[in-house]
Amino acid sequence: MKRKQLDYIMPLVFVCLLFFGSWKLANHFYNKELLEQQEEFLTSNGELLLHHLDLTELNSATNKQAIETFSQEAHDRITLLDKNGTILFDSSEPNLSGSRENRPEVKMVLKNNDVGSSVRYSSTLKSELLYTAQPIRGADETIGILRVAKRTSAFQPKTRNFQQSIAIILVIFYALIYLIICYLIYQRNRPIETVLPVLQRMLKEPEKSNYVMQNAPQWQELYVTVNQISEQLNETYAAYTSTEEQFSTLFHELTIGVFIIDMDGRFVMINPAMEELLQFGGASQHHYWQVIQDNRFIQLIQQVLVEKNQVHQEISTKLPAAMNLDIRLRYLENEVRGDQIMGTVYDLTHVRELEKIQRDFVGNVSHELKTPVTSLLGFSETLLDGAKEDPELTTEFLTIMQNDAKRLQHLIQDIIELSKDKNDLAEDHQTVELRSFIQQQVDLFQHLLKKKRITVTIAGQSDYFYQTRLPFFQPIIKNLLENAIQYSPEDSQIEISYQSAKELVISVSDHGIGMNEADQQRIFERFYRVDKARSRHSGGTGLGLAIVKEYSEILGGTVTVDSHPQLGSTFTVRLPLN
Ligand code: ADP
Repeated sequence: MKRKQLDYIMPLVFVCLLFFGSWKLANHFYNKELLEQQEEFLTSNGELLLHHLDLTELNSATNKQAIETFSQEAHDRITLLDKNGTILFDSSEPNLSGSRENRPEVKMVLKNNDVGSSVRYSSTLKSELLYTAQPIRGADETIGILRVAKRTSAFQPKTRNFQQSIAIILVIFYALIYLIICYLIYQRNRPIETVLPVLQRMLKEPEKSNYVMQNAPQWQELYVTVNQISEQLNETYAAYTSTEEQFSTLFHELTIGVFIIDMDGRFVMINPAMEELLQFGGASQHHYWQVIQDNRFIQLIQQVLVEKNQVHQEISTKLPAAMNLDIRLRYLENEVRGDQIMGTVYDLTHVRELEKIQRDFVGNVSHELKTPVTSLLGFSETLLDGAKEDPELTTEFLTIMQNDAKRLQHLIQDIIELSKDKNDLAEDHQTVELRSFIQQQVDLFQHLLKKKRITVTIAGQSDYFYQTRLPFFQPIIKNLLENAIQYSPEDSQIEISYQSAKELVISVSDHGIGMNEADQQRIFERFYRVDKARSRHSGGTGLGLAIVKEYSEILGGTVTVDSHPQLGSTFTVRLPLN
């Protein structure tokens, strides 16, 4: 049963009980009053009768006659008893005899010598009677007992009338009381019935505005307060969801791997960057030991679980791939949602690779610088120690020193070229007429070409204009041409060709020393030289092709080589058309 129905049923039961109680009580008092009246009436009847009786001889025929006449007139049963309670005469049963001393009304007379009464069933008359007994007093003492009885049915109709009237009055009275109680309950429940559904909606849909639309002066303050709470909840929820969204976006967009593990070892949260690092999709459904393959990483988590502290460590892992991971783990204590471990993982693989490249580069540069500097120092010391006295030796040494200085200069130029901050270089594009631009680059080496009697041919559409970023494009052509001249024999030919369809393809071919497959794989590495001695002698730095490759890629293109030992090499650069 609903609480609301119970609210109305309980008072109803209570009112009904009150109704029956008060009805019974009223009947009881009324009956009592009625009986007392009847008792008095019967007693006075008895008194009246006693005046007509001959008290000197109670058991006389005249007395019996008087009793019978009186009984018929009054419709009463009259019994005459001697002073011990033995029947002398009974108007309803003239032959009745025996003692009635144990009858309550008679007992009372015998005991108190005063009027006694009782209501009980008469086996003689087979009905309920009201008996009154009174002492018959002689000159000095009680000489007998006069009992007057009346059927209760004689005055019952009066009782029934009274019962009906009192029932109607009580029904009206308690119905009114019940109505008042109902009204009070309704008044009491009214704000609950109005506010409760609103509060339930607020709980169910905190994102929506829920208001109490009622207008009742006595509850106005309550309704206004509920509306204000609803508004506040609405705003707080909106702020919370927007923060939640921001957090979720941030969490998903983070390039650092982030995860949270609960005490059962399950992932509470894991962001895509972390899943990528672990190369495991849908990790949130698993335990961390099922997802993380590296044992050291698992050990670190277990360590934090046991020690409830934080760790920060860089580990080199082989699984799922060779990586350097910077791992921070922190134990988070929380009584509400349970303790957790939060981890942030930063992939340092690329950083460490770059550091290694940088270290190798510095090492190589130092080594490359050392050779010409040592040579310069050696020759200058020898000259100062006396060799300068010999003009021929002086010329020879100075020539060597000049070559070393040139090589040093060349090396420094290439290092500067490679160390340029590529972002600082102009983004601007310049347009060049390709054939004349290539010719300009060839002209830079006229002296060397003449010396080695090398001819250079340029094949390609004339008046072809190409838009490019010259600071990157020019070193590509210059280095490829320089190498072709460098590694070509005397009296040979170099062919430069270009064509553009989907992209610009420039190739530089020579008929020089060429190189084998293995060297072709490595010549684009910094400082890699096939023949170190020869390269150094010719002033090579080992950086030229590294510059060509790096700049081709900056321009969005590629460079490839096709070479055969003793036959020659062809370098092909492919660049996008801008
Ligand atoms: P270097 O300054 O020594 O020429 P590069 O980076 O330009 O350095 O070239 C790397 C190496 O590639 C050279 O030492 C050389 O052995 C080889 N190489 C480059 N170009 C050619 C070519 N056209 N023919 C043969 N070998 C070449």
